[in-house]
Amino acid sequence: MNLSQNTNLTLKKTKARPKCDLCFKSFSRQSSLKTHITTVHKKIKNYECPYSNCNKRFSTNSNMRRHVRIHEKNNKLHIKKAQLMESAIDELEAIRKHEENNFNQENNEHSKDQQY
Ligand SMILES: [Zn+2]
Ligand SMILES: [Zn+2]
Repeated sequence: MNLSQNTNLTLKKTKARPKCDLCFKSFSRQSSLKTHITTVHKKIKNYECPYSNCNKRFSTNSNMRRHVRIHEKNNKLHIKKAQLMESAIDELEAIRKHEENNFNQENNEHSKDQQY
């Protein structure tokens, strides 16, 4: 019987993974465990949305950033909308003026016709 193989198996090194004392969940990194404790067990929300009209708070920086992206997207949409509106108004104004001119010209011609 060759026992060396068996002993090798039992001696196989298992790196101690950081474990949560509260729910016994193990994590690959110490930092992951820390975020787990603060977000899951302490429910700490340290990250506040930087937008003054929004009071939302987040437990992690990445969650907060994900949320901020929504604001940024909305802002861009607003700007684009405003720009589109402006150009549309300019165009309408140009058409209106053009039509006005045509109308006046036609009227002048008609009044001339009536006079003669
Ligand atoms: Zn836990
Ligand atoms: Zn916000």
